[in-house]
Amino acid sequence: MGKRVWNLNPGPAVLPEAVLEEASKAVLEYEGKGMSLMEMSHRAKEVDKIFKDTEADLKEIMGLGDDYSVVFMGGGASLQFTMIPMNFLHDDQTADYVNTGSWSQNAIKEAKLLGKVNVAASSEEREFTYIPKIFDLSPDPAYLHITTNNTIRGTQYHFDPDVKVPLIADMSSDILSMRRDFKKYSLIYAGAQKNLGPAGVTVIIIKKDMLERVKPGIPTLLSFKTQVEKESLFNTPPVFPTYVVGLVAKWIKSQGGLAAIEAGNRKKADLLYGCLDEYSDFYRAPVNKEDLSWMNVVFRLPSEDLEKKFLAEAGEKSLIGMKGHRSVGGVRASIYNAFPYAGVEELVSFMKAFAKKEAGIGV
Ligand SMILES: *Cc1c(COP(=O)(O)O)cnc(C)c1O
Repeated sequence: MGKRVWNLNPGPAVLPEAVLEEASKAVLEYEGKGMSLMEMSHRAKEVDKIFKDTEADLKEIMGLGDDYSVVFMGGGASLQFTMIPMNFLHDDQTADYVNTGSWSQNAIKEAKLLGKVNVAASSEEREFTYIPKIFDLSPDPAYLHITTNNTIRGTQYHFDPDVKVPLIADMSSDILSMRRDFKKYSLIYAGAQKNLGPAGVTVIIIKKDMLERVKPGIPTLLSFKTQVEKESLFNTPPVFPTYVVGLVAKWIKSQGGLAAIEAGNRKKADLLYGCLDEYSDFYRAPVNKEDLSWMNVVFRLPSEDLEKKFLAEAGEKSLIGMKGHRSVGGVRASIYNAFPYAGVEELVSFMKAFAKKEAGIGV
């Protein structure tokens, strides 16, 4: 492998080097079978084992048992915005959503195409700079949907809501980044390309009792019943991306599981937010302190011109992918599980030098 850059992209994003090396071998030949994994039938027993092992490893990491199934399918997290109301929002019901930014809004928009929606809480009035803690649920909602990490705004739930209705979460950008009480959730989904693997597969962890709630008459491929009963193999699934998700799960286990991953992420976030605090005359983090994301660190500089200069000079130091989302501007450093601590150290020393050079701040 050549010299790697410090990849701070929001997604697709950095993957562990050990995973890339292992995956590259499977591109050429898998398990001595004389063919690439990409050339292998999805009905082959080796592929069946990949799906079963990956499901088992993910459930083990999350502390989930036989009452949950894992589905691997295409369509991105965005297809789940549609599939969830399509499957679970019955005609006489309302679905509750918490609006914490663009991805929540996209989920709400799709649900509204399919049924009645109640926005149970929103942080829109303060430009999505915090996570609401109190939800105004409708009387008997089909479910409550939340977005645990807001990739664009840099906010994150540092708690798992206590509700008596089925709790559904888009965890696309923070799945397996910290310990959570995953048993509180009836359905969790994540596009793989932020924290789990390459683009092309979405992981859906579904509590089996949810299947009883699936509406009749759902198109076959889009029914969670089909996906669970056929173990993701109703049609040809994204085999190679799922294989890489399996390697990432094994990598997480080898690191010591979620407790160790969480400790590493906390350390990285502390270092970077510590720098923002120390240099608050120059760098400004707009987010409420207790809701700061450990995955996507969003900040502003005194002017847009300085932000442009910052991004250009960071790029010269191989610190790439920090341009804020086009809808909000600014700077965003995405420091997912696989982003090394040494990269955050490098970023922080660049930030300090930049503040000193441009504004004479710091030592
Ligand atoms: C990136 C992202 C999505 C969209 O994922 P796709 O797989 O591109 O559809 C949805 N939700 C969140 C929180 C995201 O970060």
